[in-house]
Amino acid sequence: MTEVPQPPHKRRAHTSTRDLERYAGLFAERTTVMRSSAMRDLMAVTARPEVISLAGGLPDTSTFPPERLAAQMSKIAAQSTAAALQYGPTEGFDETKDCIVEVMAAEGMLPDPDDIVVTTGGQQAIDLVTKTLVDPGDVVICEAPTYPGAVPVFCSYQADVRQVEMDGDGMRIDLLEALLAELKAEGRRPKFIYTVPSFQNPGGVTLSLERRARLVEIARRHEILVVEDNPYGMLRYEGEALPPLYQLDGGDFVIYLGTFSKILSPGIRLGWVVAPPPVLEKVVLGKGATDLCTSTLTQFFVRQYFAEGGWKRYVEDLVDLYRGRRDTMLAALAEHFPAEATWTEPEGGLFIWATLPEYIDTGDLLAKALRSDVAFVPGQAAYVDGRGKNSMRLNFSGVDDEEIREGIGRIGRVIREQVELYEALAPGSSSGAPGREAEGVTADAGREAEDVPVEDVAGNVVPLRKEANG
Ligand code: PMP
Repeated sequence: MTEVPQPPHKRRAHTSTRDLERYAGLFAERTTVMRSSAMRDLMAVTARPEVISLAGGLPDTSTFPPERLAAQMSKIAAQSTAAALQYGPTEGFDETKDCIVEVMAAEGMLPDPDDIVVTTGGQQAIDLVTKTLVDPGDVVICEAPTYPGAVPVFCSYQADVRQVEMDGDGMRIDLLEALLAELKAEGRRPKFIYTVPSFQNPGGVTLSLERRARLVEIARRHEILVVEDNPYGMLRYEGEALPPLYQLDGGDFVIYLGTFSKILSPGIRLGWVVAPPPVLEKVVLGKGATDLCTSTLTQFFVRQYFAEGGWKRYVEDLVDLYRGRRDTMLAALAEHFPAEATWTEPEGGLFIWATLPEYIDTGDLLAKALRSDVAFVPGQAAYVDGRGKNSMRLNFSGVDDEEIREGIGRIGRVIREQVELYEALAPGSSSGAPGREAEGVTADAGREAEDVPVEDVAGNVVPLRKEANG
């Protein structure tokens, strides 16, 4: 055997100051505003088997029958090895687009396959749309809190991100209109409004039908693009399905982002963008520059999987499983979180958003929680401006009932320690979340008492579907 030449020295585990200086002068300006993804950071820690992670947004892929995967992969190998191992078209295979049309039809949408580009996950879809539309300093509007994975994307493209508060019915359209008026007065036109209208990540809330109609009407009136990110629409555990914005708009002003991650597998890295042809053309150019094409092999897998039928049955099984886990988490929260805490009660999706008294910093709390081998996403990751410090995102899909109970129990203990410490240091001052009665916060007319939006001291309006525990 020929000897493999060894590199002259091993890469150092830590970069020296001299190294940093040498490279820093070469960095693009945008690297100064790049942020890491909170979930990625946490994944390194949560990979330890003893850690119960309520941090990731992981679907339970253990429910997919191994023999089914094996059978489909064998078929691909027998019938199409060469093609499946080859490059494919940048915009994706027609057969993949047919599967996407089927998925979107299940939620009431009828896209033209020519308006679809297959992407490497929904994450790339967010990146490509932002790459296509945003120059440094351009305004992007999104929810407060927003999808933590979108924050590093918007920051990389140096967007001026404006976050609009939510309540139990999703984004506050009255506040959106006020922001649009403010921007107009400054002569600025937002590039797009990014929203996760159904079972929002991280808030767990859903944009009401009335607000969906208003948002689409605003987009059309002001000619502003709305980017609808909908990974969770089909994971509804109760209540009536609501029409996606794309369906209400017909695809003129709504760009739609989808993914197979939550209805099949995130490991296959398959998502998509549906956009009007002029936008799509640029998205395809951007994608070509990024990765030439999405994995051919996994597109073959999806084609095969859909051809066999039964994909909806698998989604129904996931819905049953996650509904139970959501209920377990809600019960555990009521049992273990202190009276000062509040949280959302999602009708679907994978996340619960909890808000703690404002004197608790969930970044610090996470360090303590990790010592108890449990993790969550600190709320700050869902804001661009440092807000959200006293909130957290909790995932209920990736671990089983027992781990949910144990994990929430452990987090509850660290929170209670903090509350007790605070009370010992400042007796009588921890009477719930002090910001609840913050000025300017009003309940929407007709809203039930338990659905009242409240503002915490950090200024976050959070949907209170539940008044503390008990
Ligand atoms: N958008 C939202 C709102 C998400 O929650 C996620 C994943 N958690 C994504 C996009 C990206 O998912 P993927 O790249 O796996 O499709």
